[in-house]
Amino acid sequence: MNLHHFRIAVTDLFLARSCSGCSALGTLLCPLCQAALLPRPGVHEFLVHSGLQWLPTAYSGAYQGVLRRVLYTYKDHHIPELADQLSPLLAAAISAVRDHAGAGPLIRVVPVPSRRAAIRRRGFDPVHQLLRSMERRQLGSHGVIAPWLQDLRGSGASKRLDRSSRLQASSAAFVATPDVVAGTDVIVVDDIITTGSTISEAARTLEKAGCQVRGVAAIAHTL
Ligand SMILES: [Zn+2]
Repeated sequence: MNLHHFRIAVTDLFLARSCSGCSALGTLLCPLCQAALLPRPGVHEFLVHSGLQWLPTAYSGAYQGVLRRVLYTYKDHHIPELADQLSPLLAAAISAVRDHAGAGPLIRVVPVPSRRAAIRRRGFDPVHQLLRSMERRQLGSHGVIAPWLQDLRGSGASKRLDRSSRLQASSAAFVATPDVVAGTDVIVVDDIITTGSTISEAARTLEKAGCQVRGVAAIAHTL
């Protein structure tokens, strides 16, 4: 363990014993901060464009205050246990955009994959962890999880693709996996929407693979 990892381990030890929202000691999330994480999903029509169409976009809160601190702790202090505290916010956003689209409970939910380097650093993929938590806790009829996107950013992964996939992927951040089913209705999900360019790129990749993207959903949006 080098000094960097030792520092993270000590920080994690401290954070695991303090509220990720307000630093109160003795709990990962105190009742007050838990109450502040109440989902308030809204659907926004003109936030994310895939290149083909505007995509109805739902998120459960602004990336600020308690929500920002808890999400930051979850992702950047590597506390996967917080997935259970955050997954209801993602489930609420998915339900909001699914209802808006008039889609059924079997709509496919496609996560935006993390960068490989980030997964190595954190030891987990935050969005996958949230979706697993939603499944385990059976939060609403949130759709069927379909990990149909592969991350290409900075990975050299495109070298392993065949020629046509490589041409398609030459300037792309993502590529659709071979098990993607053309003609399927999908919702694309991420944890945080910042400029919208990442989730837009993910949606565009799925549209090129023949999917009908009915909307996008996230926990938070940076206003
Ligand atoms: Zn707190």
